Amino acid sequence: MFLRRRLLSTAAAATAARGPPPIRVSLTESAGRGVFATRPVSSGELLHSAQPLVSHPSHSLLHEVCYNCLRRKPGEGRASSGGDYFCSDACRDHAKGFHDIEKNVDWSLFDYHCSSRDLKYPYMAKRLACMVISGAANADCLNILQPALLHQGTLIEMKEEFELLESTFRKAGFQEEITTCIL
Ligand SMILES: [Zn+2]
Repeated sequence: MFLRRRLLSTAAAATAARGPPPIRVSLTESAGRGVFATRPVSSGELLHSAQPLVSHPSHSLLHEVCYNCLRRKPGEGRASSGGDYFCSDACRDHAKGFHDIEKNVDWSLFDYHCSSRDLKYPYMAKRLACMVISGAANADCLNILQPALLHQGTLIEMKEEFELLESTFRKAGFQEEITTCIL
């Protein structure tokens, strides 16, 4: 127990000594938000690492990468009962809640909309919505999908995709109060 406490305090002290990661998030002139270094950095220097809050395979790689962490499938890989590949039991366990929700919904219209326009962003909204419904994420985090800059064309597209996502959930039988709280 003493050793564990000492290790923890050593790790905390090391973190404090390092300080926050030397990065900041700001707006770029043409590509939305970006991550900028706050000091000169060396080639190969690790600045920060964190688990992504949300990720989703693009349509073309849906069966080529892990459904949770997007690691590429080696050879044949291992497929779940739904045909989606998970690279590890940890990824399968982590994805269980939202994967169960996603498997109970017919995404054919939504997939067609995204694949025919080569869109990735709506998949992130879909995944995050399923995470909120399953309890894997809090509804408070939904604003991370808010674009940094909203143009009129962007608003029209977002409205169309919002309605498509909402109707997809409704057709799958999700109750109004669930979709109202997340959409
Ligand atoms: Zn994985």
